[in-house]
Amino acid sequence: MESATLEAMRTELRGPVICAQDAEYTQARKVYNAMIDKHPAALVPCRDAGDVMSALAFIRDNGLELAVRGGGHSGPGLCLVDDGVTIDLSPMRWVRVDPAARTAEVGGGSHLGDLDHATHSFGLATPTGIISMTGVGGLTLGGGHGYLTRKYGLTVDNLLAADVVLADGSFVTANETDHPDLFWALRGGGGNFGIVTSFTYRLHPVDTVGAGITVWPVERTREVLAWYRDFLPQAPEDVYGFFMLFTIPPGPPFPEELHGRKSCGIVWCHTGDLNRLDETLAVVHEPGPPAFHFATPMPYPALQGMFDDLIPTGYQWYWRGDFFDRVHDAALDVHLEYGENLPTPLSLMHLYPVDAAAHRVGRDDTAWSYRDAVWSGVFAGVDPDPANADSIKQWCVEYWDSMHPYSMGGAYVNFMGEGEGQERVRATYGDHYDRLAQVKRTYDPYNLFHANQNISPTQQR
Ligand SMILES: Cc1cc2nc3c(=O)[nH]c(=O)nc-3n(C[C@H](O)[C@H](O)[C@H](O)COP(=O)(O)OP(=O)(O)OC[C@H]3O[C@@H](n4cnc5c(N)ncnc54)[C@H](O)[C@@H]3O)c2cc1C
Repeated sequence: MESATLEAMRTELRGPVICAQDAEYTQARKVYNAMIDKHPAALVPCRDAGDVMSALAFIRDNGLELAVRGGGHSGPGLCLVDDGVTIDLSPMRWVRVDPAARTAEVGGGSHLGDLDHATHSFGLATPTGIISMTGVGGLTLGGGHGYLTRKYGLTVDNLLAADVVLADGSFVTANETDHPDLFWALRGGGGNFGIVTSFTYRLHPVDTVGAGITVWPVERTREVLAWYRDFLPQAPEDVYGFFMLFTIPPGPPFPEELHGRKSCGIVWCHTGDLNRLDETLAVVHEPGPPAFHFATPMPYPALQGMFDDLIPTGYQWYWRGDFFDRVHDAALDVHLEYGENLPTPLSLMHLYPVDAAAHRVGRDDTAWSYRDAVWSGVFAGVDPDPANADSIKQWCVEYWDSMHPYSMGGAYVNFMGEGEGQERVRATYGDHYDRLAQVKRTYDPYNLFHANQNISPTQQR
């Protein structure tokens, strides 16, 4: 960026403008995934919608590249562009709960942990994801699934309204009656349509939940997964369990003799009667005796933060995803093979349930394009050491290649990896691509918001 432009930006905007010469720059350009090494020309931290409107107007009027940062957690580092300007919403971490109405208004840069912490004081919660440092912004706009999804739906199924700064610089509130087409697109269409400065969610009575984890040796993957695929979809909506292939971490609650063992397992969240937790999870013996089983009542935010320390900011990540409506017999062997060959101790495969309450919403009611999916799968190579970047990526891509034929063809937009290409983006938005493109033409005809899994305003399917 020319120095005169930078100078003008510093003069015209109220808050700080962070660029390469500033001491804060190195920290400000860091994102969750250390594989991302982008060098924006500037980052503009914003405190409120007014800051966002001023920054956006400057960026647009000067023909600069724009990116928007929520929690900075996206796998491909979509909140940064080389030589562009990031509107950074991280100062906008606030939550206001209305316990009587059972709603929460949440700043666009908040983390899931901010939301859970604020609502838990009132014995309330809304479905989000399973790691508390993830941004509500990117997660919600992509759809959002987690421990409460079988009972209360996706995050977008609980979104009541969004305050949005549009590409033309105006500010609108989108809900079922005002800008309903925009509201539809925001619920699954990614960050394509504007900058959301606050989200309003419906809350549900959720307080202490039954949290659990059951583990079997990886060699048992075939039997355990075959049992899980039959059990889970017909289980009561109070019972949520995501399946995983992983390596047992060296710490509690796992006994020392299991540390470092490649395994398959299920992480449970039971939102029913806690007096019946053990009885409900007694089923874990059906596929054969587990190597380890642990279940206990736990405050919901504690479960939400349970894995945070295991995967802190700054590790290498490469991931891909796909939706699945079933687990084919032939796929059981593929999972076993790649589970036995996990390339590093933190690499993983998860199958997250997106059925039950999420299936009760009409397939065209929101932009979430795979209402008939039963699982959202993610294959993730993870390691602290950059020297392993190539090997984790190779494992992930090969695993994904082997599983893709058994998938529904597209992935959860928030589980797309770097550089998957436009055909994959179309497969991911699926049958809703053309309608999303129509909304894009209305609200962002020049594609100002393109640092995302991008919907082109000009191209039809
Ligand atoms: C460890 C880990 C665990 C995860 N677990 C889950 C899970 O359980 N469930 C789940 O659904 N997802 C999960 N995700 C995926 C997560 O939803 C995505 O990574 C998501 O993009 C994170 O959003 P963010 O705001 O932190 O990311 P960012 O990188 O800041 O943003 C991602 C995209 O969203 C846009 N964006 C962000 N905020 C806004 C806003 N306020 N207005 C407009 N555009 C915005 C950005 O421009 C960018 O295009 C997980 C991710 C990680 C890294």
